[in-house]
Amino acid sequence: MDLLTQKNIRATTFRKEVLAVFLEHDYAISINTIEKSIGKHDRITLYRTIKTFIEKGILHEVLIPNEEKKLAMCQSECSSDGHQHDHIHFKCEACEEVYCKEVDRVPQLQLEGFKVKSIEINASGICEKCG
Ligand SMILES: [Zn+2]
Ligand SMILES: [Zn+2]
Ligand SMILES: [Zn+2]
Repeated sequence: MDLLTQKNIRATTFRKEVLAVFLEHDYAISINTIEKSIGKHDRITLYRTIKTFIEKGILHEVLIPNEEKKLAMCQSECSSDGHQHDHIHFKCEACEEVYCKEVDRVPQLQLEGFKVKSIEINASGICEKCG
């Protein structure tokens, strides 16, 4: 069963095309990269598709300070009920790509009186391809 069907999303040609771009990359990509990789398209449809993918737990946003927003594939645990990420975003200083890397345990935060719902951890260095 393909990912879209599995996530209860109607597998239109366009959605399949957008998903394929993510499957071709093992690092986070910008909307700009997606636009260059797919054929002629309507930008509004693309934005809606991305929004749906995020809501359904297929994609998540990768936010690195001072950089354009990127998107990456979720792990299978993510669903329309929410995202569950035990990973950090690693930016390679050489190729400048951002990778999602699983970690054994994401540090937990205890903030008196505050309810922590998510923690974003960014790391940088040299990736295995550049190392
Ligand atoms: Zn997710
Ligand atoms: Zn690299
Ligand atoms: Zn990620």
